[in-house]
Amino acid sequence: MALCTPLNECPICHKPIGENTEVIGFPDLVPMFSQFDGDFYDSCAHQACLDSWPRRDEFVAYFNKLVAESSLSKSWQLHVLANGRVVYERSLK
Ligand SMILES: [Zn+2]
Repeated sequence: MALCTPLNECPICHKPIGENTEVIGFPDLVPMFSQFDGDFYDSCAHQACLDSWPRRDEFVAYFNKLVAESSLSKSWQLHVLANGRVVYERSLK
């Protein structure tokens, strides 16, 4: 799981994560060069960017497929809640 620092770049808005921001971290799973214009490999994104991203559902489906094909447990799968917020399955319990 990525270590988030204020200087990390959000792969969605391409701005630094900054201080006092809610973030979501990604494991070293999504290839550095994927169909998404951003480096999600071992990265952190602003939670708000992910939640409101037009490609959110596409990314979640892509990410979950990678999880299913990997040795990671199913608890790493992402879910989109009714309010649009993206969470890991393991945080639903
Ligand atoms: Zn962002």
